[in-house]
Amino acid sequence: MRPDALLFPAPEGLYCPDGGFYVDPVRPVERALVTHGHSDHARPGHRHVLATRQTLDIMRLRCGDGFSGSEQAVSFGEELDLNGVKVSFHPAGHVLGSAQIAVEKNGTRIVVSGDYKRRPDPTCAAYEPVPCDVFITEATFGLPVFHHPDPMGEIGKVLASLRQFPERTHLIGAYALGKAQRVIRLLRDAGYGEPIYIHGAMEQLCDYYAGQGIDLGDLRPATIESRDKSVFKGAVVVGPSSAFADRWARRFNEPLPAFASGWMMVRQRAKQQGVELPLVISDHCDWPELTETITELSPAEVWVTHGREEALVRWCELRGIKARPLHLVGYEDEGD
Ligand SMILES: [Zn+2]
Repeated sequence: MRPDALLFPAPEGLYCPDGGFYVDPVRPVERALVTHGHSDHARPGHRHVLATRQTLDIMRLRCGDGFSGSEQAVSFGEELDLNGVKVSFHPAGHVLGSAQIAVEKNGTRIVVSGDYKRRPDPTCAAYEPVPCDVFITEATFGLPVFHHPDPMGEIGKVLASLRQFPERTHLIGAYALGKAQRVIRLLRDAGYGEPIYIHGAMEQLCDYYAGQGIDLGDLRPATIESRDKSVFKGAVVVGPSSAFADRWARRFNEPLPAFASGWMMVRQRAKQQGVELPLVISDHCDWPELTETITELSPAEVWVTHGREEALVRWCELRGIKARPLHLVGYEDEGD
């Protein structure tokens, strides 16, 4: 069947009329298939949600018990039939529980990759290539200038800075879902064995990751009230970057602001945000990962969504791959 009849952009999100569902809808719908727990993809208020167990758990932690009328958990690789449309979920390597969704009818298969990356990440299942006729890809870092360095090298900068400024509290800004846990895990893998202090906004998710078998080491609440301020001297504190701009951060000892994000490649952004130690650690594909993935999958068509769509569309066309931008709105890359 024609792919654009199987799945197409509607105001609510990507819509499959035959299956009667939307993928990552931005407005409340009857039936939602959700790729992962970031707030721009996983919104509360749907009548029914189908997602991986971990994504459902994360939605409950973030949105409360009433996040959906009803829910159904699906395992990676399990095949479901929704009104004659075959649906299956496959690891996306983005954050814990994140999935690509394959939608298939009459021999036409479309893969919605959601957000994904190809770099190794010990905090979630690795991306798995799924052969398809149409590959729907994000393009958050869809420009040839975006090359993300080795994350261990970036973590090495934190350790070097701790040696250079042993008195200063190193405040690492990171998104609460995915990035924070990845940064903590990377610090552990680099041999950092000291307690890591976390902002209250990260506690539940860090506990959840630990409960899912992702060892984050000794984590302690970064509350000053109950503690002698001197414990934070030379310590690492992980929190949402928004918290670092307010009074909360000023209570630490000579705070040294760091931020872990793919956007830290852009010096201007780091400067504007007052980041002293930019860490280029991304949960999205950079340009080589995007183009290598398309080369590997070799789909008949590529549809490009949220991000810098035009360059990737052009890259595909130059290689004889049919491509088009989807111009989906409402996806603000929460976990970049
Ligand atoms: Zn995401």
